[in-house]
Amino acid sequence: MSEQIITISRNEAHALGLKRYFNGKLCSKGHVAERLVSDRKCLECSRARKRDKLADDPEHAEKERKRKREYMHDKRARARVRSLVPKSRSRQLPVS
Ligand SMILES: [Zn+2]
Repeated sequence: MSEQIITISRNEAHALGLKRYFNGKLCSKGHVAERLVSDRKCLECSRARKRDKLADDPEHAEKERKRKREYMHDKRARARVRSLVPKSRSRQLPVS
């Protein structure tokens, strides 16, 4: 009841330097979801596309598994990605 959904236009989000925005409008597939500022694509559609591709294309799925495996073994790549995440959002990981 007191929950408030904040809508913001792509232009406003872009001006604020945000990567995602939510305008409250339906996408062409009928999702009400956040969209990317970069290409205006609905995040639900992106997820569905990725899911379908993994289900339909075993070769692609294997490539993705391999890529993920390599990434998980690559400490420097993970550190690089972590450094891109704003401090407020990164989890406090124990230092080993
Ligand atoms: Zn969509």
